Amino acid sequence: MKWEYVGYGLLAMIGLIIVGLVLIFLVIHIIKWTIKKIAGDAINKVVGIGSGLANKVVDRALDVGEKGVVTGATAVSKMVGDELTKNDPKKMGAEITKIAQKYNGEITISHVISELGLTNDQAQRHLWNLTSQKVCHTEIKNKQKVYVFPGFKEKRKIKVCEYCETTFELEDVRNECPSCGGTLKIITQTVD
Ligand SMILES: [Zn+2]
Repeated sequence: MKWEYVGYGLLAMIGLIIVGLVLIFLVIHIIKWTIKKIAGDAINKVVGIGSGLANKVVDRALDVGEKGVVTGATAVSKMVGDELTKNDPKKMGAEITKIAQKYNGEITISHVISELGLTNDQAQRHLWNLTSQKVCHTEIKNKQKVYVFPGFKEKRKIKVCEYCETTFELEDVRNECPSCGGTLKIITQTVD
């Protein structure tokens, strides 16, 4: 065997290895691209969020996925799950109600966005839902839109005149209105 044959043989082997590596590289990228496309489309279909967000979610999951397919798959399903929850009116309605309770029945959209990690649109949609179900109503306080949940407002008892609606402290011993003579009755009032 002449040396030049050995040389060609080596060259051919190196060439094959390079071609092989390129093929493997291509296959990995085609698989990645396909997963990204399928997952992105699936998320868009189910959740109806913008494709930009869906791609970002999948990209993040794929970075993780390169370290382990299982971890990646878990991350994808968790993120899809989180995104589904954030769009679920029932679950988010319950979460927002809990926040309202924590803040004694008065919250702004910022509370909802920061505590639940929602987008402005999502928070707006869920608050609108609760408003239309009469769980809460809106008021303007200090030039700010406040969502008031009357169920969680602090309550106290007072006396009120049945006729002219003047109010008195519960401790007031009078049973007759000093200005109009109407009867005073005891009512429960929410504290502002
Ligand atoms: Zn009166």
